[in-house]
Amino acid sequence: MKYNSFNPTQKILMGPGPSNIDPRVMESMSKNIIGHLDPEFIELMNEIKNLLRYAFQTKNELTFPLSAPGSAGMETCFVNLVEPGDKVIVCINGVFGGRMKENVERCGGYPIIIEDKWGTPIDLNKVEIALKQNPDTKILAFVHAETSTGVCSDAMELSNLAKSYDCLTIMDTVTSLAGIPIHLDEWKIDAVYSGSQKCLSCPPGLSPLSFSENALTVVKNRKTKVQSWFMDLSLVMQYWQGGSSRAYHHTAPINAMYALYESLRILNEEGLENSWKRHEAVHLELKKGLENLGFSFLVDEKSRLPQLNAILLPDKIKSNEAEIRARLLREYNLEIGAGLGALSGKIWRIGLMGYGASLNNVKTCINALSEII
Ligand SMILES: *Cc1c(COP(=O)(O)O)cnc(C)c1O
Repeated sequence: MKYNSFNPTQKILMGPGPSNIDPRVMESMSKNIIGHLDPEFIELMNEIKNLLRYAFQTKNELTFPLSAPGSAGMETCFVNLVEPGDKVIVCINGVFGGRMKENVERCGGYPIIIEDKWGTPIDLNKVEIALKQNPDTKILAFVHAETSTGVCSDAMELSNLAKSYDCLTIMDTVTSLAGIPIHLDEWKIDAVYSGSQKCLSCPPGLSPLSFSENALTVVKNRKTKVQSWFMDLSLVMQYWQGGSSRAYHHTAPINAMYALYESLRILNEEGLENSWKRHEAVHLELKKGLENLGFSFLVDEKSRLPQLNAILLPDKIKSNEAEIRARLLREYNLEIGAGLGALSGKIWRIGLMGYGASLNNVKTCINALSEII
């Protein structure tokens, strides 16, 4: 065996996720395991659902964490809402929009693609034109916070457009949840998924989901079976919504649920608005430091995500950017993110997510960068 036990070095995670975990959340995971149908666990499931409703600002009955990472949350939304032949407008302005297209195709749906330049938000005019040209579109799918580029798109306006064409919405909130405002009910979004390891600062592996009544009616009236057994909401619901008749569907990752519960409690104690404000304030500090070092942002100020800072690399850094990131990790135990796809070698992505959105982390990052470059 290579290790007597595995003791990873403590690192400062300032990439696109996972983020560092609050010690309270770490501790919660080592509590006694109980059965996943134990009345105590069912109590916990109810608490988690309520706290998730607060985090999403929704009264949606079907709000729960899927026992799988954000990518599976994405897939759950598509496999349940898209049937063969359905038209889905997919907005692509980064990596994750591209994955939505892939999901639509695999469900036998017909994707209509709206592309925007990486680093810019989704263009509402293009979406409106596509809706006009395709009045039979069933769903508009988009990413609220594009982690690959650091862009925030206007979820409320996108949803308004979709509603005016009688269209459902699927929104990716993996990076936005708890980092920037989300008002699910006010914005009338139909289906969302998120992830535990970004601004909720939990271990990876859970995907909070929420479906509107409207979306649920569509699921209930499907003509075909959902092709994924595990993600079929009509089955999962019997486990998460069954009341006293809760039935076995799969074994929930029990201790991971303890962690999610604790992180949602922390969010509740701080207050959502305060969490959003903290992300913004810490981002402004990071921005100041980065600009002093000669960096500029990929994204226009009005569409920037505070929790994911995409910065353009000056020419003198571009040639050895991978080495600088490697040194940050080796010498400072500091992880920052590289650019993806077309932005690889051109940007860095510095995350300020959840527990990691702190002035201390900003200071550590700016100091390390100023010593190395
Ligand atoms: C991280 C991320 C995902 C995927 O989440 P996993 O937990 O890695 O599967 C999806 N969408 C966005 C916007 C993300 O940032």
